[in-house]
Amino acid sequence: MSDPTAPADTTAELLAAARALDAADPLRAHLDAFVEAPGVQAYLDGNSLGRPLAVVPERLAAFVREDWGTRLIRSWDEQWMDLPERLGDRIAEVALGAAAGQTIVADSTSVVLYKLIRAGAAAAGEGRTEIVIEEGNFPTDRFIAAGVAAELGMELVWVQPDPVHGVTVDDLAPVLSQRTALVVLSHVDYRSGALADMAAITAQVHEAGGLILWDLCHSAGSVPVRLDDSGADLAVGCTYKYLNGGPGSPAFAYVRRDLQPHIRQPIQGWWSAADIFAMGPQYAPTPGIRQLLSGTPPVTSMLAMQAMLDLIAEAGIEAVRTKSVSLTDFAVRAADELLVPLGVRLLSPRDSALRGGHVTIGHPDFQAVTQELWGEGVIPDFRFPDGIRLGLSPLSTSHEETLLGVIAVRDALTH
Ligand SMILES: *Cc1c(COP(=O)(O)O)cnc(C)c1O
Repeated sequence: MSDPTAPADTTAELLAAARALDAADPLRAHLDAFVEAPGVQAYLDGNSLGRPLAVVPERLAAFVREDWGTRLIRSWDEQWMDLPERLGDRIAEVALGAAAGQTIVADSTSVVLYKLIRAGAAAAGEGRTEIVIEEGNFPTDRFIAAGVAAELGMELVWVQPDPVHGVTVDDLAPVLSQRTALVVLSHVDYRSGALADMAAITAQVHEAGGLILWDLCHSAGSVPVRLDDSGADLAVGCTYKYLNGGPGSPAFAYVRRDLQPHIRQPIQGWWSAADIFAMGPQYAPTPGIRQLLSGTPPVTSMLAMQAMLDLIAEAGIEAVRTKSVSLTDFAVRAADELLVPLGVRLLSPRDSALRGGHVTIGHPDFQAVTQELWGEGVIPDFRFPDGIRLGLSPLSTSHEETLLGVIAVRDALTH
């Protein structure tokens, strides 16, 4: 190979295409709704940590001034007490396809996973002793499932899906049986971006008599989720990724309404007691989704996401998905033209119908490349062993920014 770089006119054509797509993007006005980050050329990690909206600094200041600072403890009674449910219902309405009364904002994703995996596994019928989880699931999901299995004397059963195309009905068929208690899967794979068929897999797990828990960390806010329609039992999801709640903002938990009376979560703190102020000798859980709470909710960490939920509601989750597909399709096209000739592999599904909001590409030099890019203000995510994840948060990312990132990768591989 004499000159591994693509001809200049390919880059020029891609740039013209990116600008045309941006000009035609009905959501382009929202790109200006986020806090500016001086020196950042391309932020391609909005699926790890979403950008703050520009209204957030004033909202936080107003909260301190007009609420916490002056209403003081009276604000618990007046507006904070039911914030976990109100915010849960809002997320459900805007992004999850779930009716009210089934979603609550509680603790970190890991802690919510523990509560729901424990509750779901324990609620399974007689003789159901297996928790099914995929090998490629996010570490915290696997670690917590292993911990619960040990705690309950259950067995972990591993599914080994194709690492690019993710888990399918065919992968699950051989492992489901009358021993299956709970299946724990990610809706969008955190590495490949593969989008699982929630309706088909949920039906399959129910057919086998088990319960299913969907991890929505990489779908909530970018892929329309249809929890109620698909009959999902349990779900959990991050709010600091596509819901832009800020570092460490608390996760949401979903429990299907008719399952709520049959589960019991293990961290039975006073906030989930039937009468929180009774201070009685014995614990009795409150009915409904509020039973998922444990201790005092992190009110301050629940503020920033409210602005993003308003923005997603204004744009509409279907329009957000359309933009997301356009961005990921364009990233795949740019990678095909500029990076594949350099030995880069596509590690995400090529068909957008089978893909969530990010695109992953692979090359043995990507760890070093990522470090170099961060130094230049181009910020993707590195995923072991050799993947670069281009996280394209639909409302805050343009096609041109996406292309800048791909060009930066090309340049880093060729100099
Ligand atoms: C981001 C992510 C988490 C994060 O869990 P935390 O408790 O918030 O650190 C868990 N699971 C999946 C699938 C994720 O993508």
